[in-house]
Amino acid sequence: MNPRIVIMGPQGAGKGTQSERLAEAYDVEHVTTGGILRANKDLETEHGTPGEYMDRGELVPDEVMAAIVEEALGSRDGYVLDGYPRNRAQAEYLDEIADPHLVLLIEVSEEVSIERLSGRRECRDCGATYHVDFDPPAESGVCDVCGGELFRREDDEPEAIRRRLEIYYDETEPVVAHYREETDIPVKSVDGEQPPDDVFDDIESMVESTVPQPSASED
Ligand code: AMP
Repeated sequence: MNPRIVIMGPQGAGKGTQSERLAEAYDVEHVTTGGILRANKDLETEHGTPGEYMDRGELVPDEVMAAIVEEALGSRDGYVLDGYPRNRAQAEYLDEIADPHLVLLIEVSEEVSIERLSGRRECRDCGATYHVDFDPPAESGVCDVCGGELFRREDDEPEAIRRRLEIYYDETEPVVAHYREETDIPVKSVDGEQPPDDVFDDIESMVESTVPQPSASED
């Protein structure tokens, strides 16, 4: 069976990296609301453009997000959903339109989040990502892949990082309690401060012990 996974955790936990690996390993779609929004930053909605909220590190309005998520999940029978839900209203909406097998929570401390986000750099041309200390390019400010210029995302500026983490702890973390206490969907935590390969190994064993495997359903 194709896994339907919601991946959660604070900014900088490694959700993007791990979601991509998971989606590839199980051949399902990586649905990243941040990625969809970045590709539609200037889209006019009745609430303004997504970019206006994103650059400030604020959440894009729930109504806009509901339409995006509904379309992105469509009738897919497997996905890794990364970046949604971010608050209680979004979690309740997702309960109505989707039925995930598993919620994966990647845990890192607030200090680690800040350290990872503030050093993050992205290539203007090809989107490759680096970290000034942990994964630097060969030449400072220049992309190894395509030679493009590296920049710091607006929402990785210190003030926006502070706001994003505040929203995470105030609004998004309670969603984990919603899953634990008010649904039957299992929540599994993984230590996101380990090296990425170890995080992925843990995630894979969690998926395998939680999502019904093809051999089990054929029995
Ligand atoms: P991310 O890359 O997941 O950190 O998302 C980047 C930005 O996109 C966030 O800081 C928000 O402004 C916006 N965003 C992404 N997902 C959501 C969501 N589920 N609800 C509201 N805003 C979102």
